[in-house]
Amino acid sequence: MSYKITVIPGDGIGKEITDSAVEVLEKVDEKFGLGLSYTYKDAGGTAYDKFGTPLPDDTIEACKASDGVLFGAVGGDKWDNVDPALRPEKAILGLRKNLGLYANLRPVKVADALVEYSPLKPELVKGVDLVIVRELIGGIYFGDKCESEQHNGAERAWDLENYSVPEVDRIAKLAFETAKLRRGKVTSVDKANVLATSRLWRRTVAKVAESYPDVELNNLYVDNCAMQLAIRPTQFDVIVTGNLFGDILSDEAAVVGGSIGMMPSASIGTSTSLYEPIHGSAPDIAGKGIANPMGTILSAAMLLRYSLHEEAAAKAIEAAVDKALADGYRTPDLWKEGFQKANTEEITKVICERI
Ligand code: ATP
Ligand code: MG
Repeated sequence: MSYKITVIPGDGIGKEITDSAVEVLEKVDEKFGLGLSYTYKDAGGTAYDKFGTPLPDDTIEACKASDGVLFGAVGGDKWDNVDPALRPEKAILGLRKNLGLYANLRPVKVADALVEYSPLKPELVKGVDLVIVRELIGGIYFGDKCESEQHNGAERAWDLENYSVPEVDRIAKLAFETAKLRRGKVTSVDKANVLATSRLWRRTVAKVAESYPDVELNNLYVDNCAMQLAIRPTQFDVIVTGNLFGDILSDEAAVVGGSIGMMPSASIGTSTSLYEPIHGSAPDIAGKGIANPMGTILSAAMLLRYSLHEEAAAKAIEAAVDKALADGYRTPDLWKEGFQKANTEEITKVICERI
């Protein structure tokens, strides 16, 4: 076996957290004999400073040539006055486009040890383990739009939503495949009572479901789903939805999770996929060695699961993170009286010991 991983640390805490995740990957590699190798590339403000562009061609090529991309974070006020077309954030949009990243997966799993960090009551949050599968490159964000026109004597603007059957089919299959690896339940979220795109979405998802007799399919309207996430989040396994609804529900679900430093994500592409924590570059704590690397470490576990199909190695990482928390270790963002305070390097070591 041998796998090539492109590592893009990016800006701010990006280097600290990706260094930590690579250390953990090396540890599971030792144990499972995966044969991982790493190529480091620049993106974001760091790349802009060196090369005058937030996304050098060389970075794109390296990503395409690898089995998976581990991404830290980009951005920071240092680049606030840069030409908008060259801002650090453009790197992630460019990668999305160049790698055809059509789906965003956001798991929300609340470790027993972290239940108290959620704004919801502990009894509602305990056991939450869901993943939102959001369509990422279609829908209303990418349809025809008009910034301003005159219509019947008034100024108006419009955005057009459209989805094609192949687009919905592809994301639905991903959701069902994901559910097969999990608890076998898909909730498809739409607004089929008012939107034509949602009715096509619902029909297409139902068709895909026929090929997955072992996976249960439910449909929910987005307004109801938003409410259910707040009152009974444990009911969900895999939620699949379009770009706009997914954007909103992903953030709502992240709040249920409670601690931003803990949360991983995957952006699935037609060939290479990209894995990154959901938080930003945290310029306020960059360089201090205190960032919580768990979101990035759990993103690396997702890379093992979804790109390399190394489920046992992925589970080993997730279990080690859980164990580190259960044993009372906390980075400063999660620290409270009575717990063992650990900086980035120390928590990495604690996790590696538990692999
Ligand atoms: P964006 O890049 O999306 O604009 P932002 O600047 O709003 O993001 P972040 O960079 O994620 O947000 O930071 C928000 C807050 O959370 C900051 O105070 C930051 O220090 C903290 N934070 C984010 N990630 C981590 C982490 N991994 N460990 C500790 N604290 C974190
Ligand atoms: Mg930021």
